[in-house]
Amino acid sequence: MSAVVLNGRDLAEKMKENMKARVEALKKKGVNPGLAVVLVGDNPASQIYVRMKKKDCAEVGITSYEYLRDKTISEDELLALVDELNKDERIHGILVQLPLPDHINEIKILERIDPEKDADGFNPINMGRLLTGAESMLPCTPAGVMELIKLSGVEIKGKDCVVVGRSNIVGKPAAVLLLREHGTVTICHSRTKNLGEVTRRADILVAAVGRANMITAGMVKPGAVVIDVGMNRLEGNKVVGDVDYEGVKEVASAITPVPKGVGPMTRAMLLMNTLKAAER
Ligand code: NDP
Repeated sequence: MSAVVLNGRDLAEKMKENMKARVEALKKKGVNPGLAVVLVGDNPASQIYVRMKKKDCAEVGITSYEYLRDKTISEDELLALVDELNKDERIHGILVQLPLPDHINEIKILERIDPEKDADGFNPINMGRLLTGAESMLPCTPAGVMELIKLSGVEIKGKDCVVVGRSNIVGKPAAVLLLREHGTVTICHSRTKNLGEVTRRADILVAAVGRANMITAGMVKPGAVVIDVGMNRLEGNKVVGDVDYEGVKEVASAITPVPKGVGPMTRAMLLMNTLKAAER
């Protein structure tokens, strides 16, 4: 039997409808939610992401403020811009589009963003809060992953959860969120031995690697929920995930497609972080 498709685009649209109403309610109270998007340099992929984020903001009524800076900007100048945005009362969320040019220390910039305005949830204060279970701005992709698992209707408590990938922005925080929901969590990475044996134990499998179609049907437990974070561009510009969708959908009970899976949910979560900050 073919798996249920966890459509992230439809779920994101529903969330946006709900957010739109919340934004309107805020505006009636005189609060106009604002997101600052900082883009350094002319990376074409970053330009596309920033454009999409602006469009998303407009859809739900959040005002986006764009700060385009040349790739020659110094670290001090960028830190000064972040300071300015931290103080700016019109702005509830700040997003510095990554990657930054090599001469700028990304960690230093992310650490400078006010944790209460940290729309991406990458500031170490928010990372620490996530780890301890305190209220925090959640990193958008892992937060979107959790919403998609919820959509599957499968309870996380007590389940074997395997996350493939241990990056700070996806793998590690996704694992922490699953642990918070009482999953029994295993994290795999490039040095993991017998990856297929480990992934086959998973009731819930999250793939966040960046290798096209690497998770094949034989690596998936029958009936598992499979969340595919990967976005890999093939020749001819087609984008595929880390999961061999056609094969795995015949084994899994639920699966996210790529595109229309985790991607739209990541974008919705960015809006949600900004909205929650404005509501606070
Ligand atoms: P990173 O490159 O930072 O991390 C990749 C992880 O995969 C690393 O932990 C690495 O291990 C692990 N890995 C690499 N090769 C293997 C292997 N053969 N077996 C097991 N593990 C392996 O990537 P990101 O976390 O930033 O992103 C992962 C994917 O998700 C990418 O395709 C990216 O484009 C996509 N993505 C999608 C988003 C969305 O909104 N849909 C948002 C963010 C990312 P090690 O640590 O040992 O090197």
